[in-house]
Amino acid sequence: MKDCLFCKIVKGEIPSERVYEDDDILAFKDIAPAAHVHILIIPKLHIDGADALSHDEPKHAEIAGNLIMTAGKLAHELGLKDGWRIVTNVLTHGGQTVRHLHFHLLGGEQLGDFGSKLLF
Ligand code: AMP
Ligand code: ZN
Repeated sequence: MKDCLFCKIVKGEIPSERVYEDDDILAFKDIAPAAHVHILIIPKLHIDGADALSHDEPKHAEIAGNLIMTAGKLAHELGLKDGWRIVTNVLTHGGQTVRHLHFHLLGGEQLGDFGSKLLF
């Protein structure tokens, strides 16, 4: 999508610190890390968010599975043996600021309690 920040990162028009890439998925370091390890895992195909995933779209189920599998693979490779978290924010109430589906992979330290008001 033309004016989408993450589509520009996929195309290399905006620089990023890439940590993983395959035909369908890109993972790169978050520019404002909320934890010692904070990686964004995105589909190369523009999908607005988790709310826009649809069984009517041929590749969506495969991509959604690959995003989560990639999180596990990266967590293992990065040595997050004591645990980690994936988060996807959706629309305004969910705190989504970039409208291109992404999972935050967070770890490398004790993460905040979901009972608190902290997002991460
Ligand atoms: P969200 O608020 O869930 O939509 O997450 C968007 C994330 O993108 C935030 O954690 C930002 O820090 C991150 N972000 C914004 N611009 C960039 C960029 N150019 N490179 C890497 N991460 C970015
Ligand atoms: Zn996009």
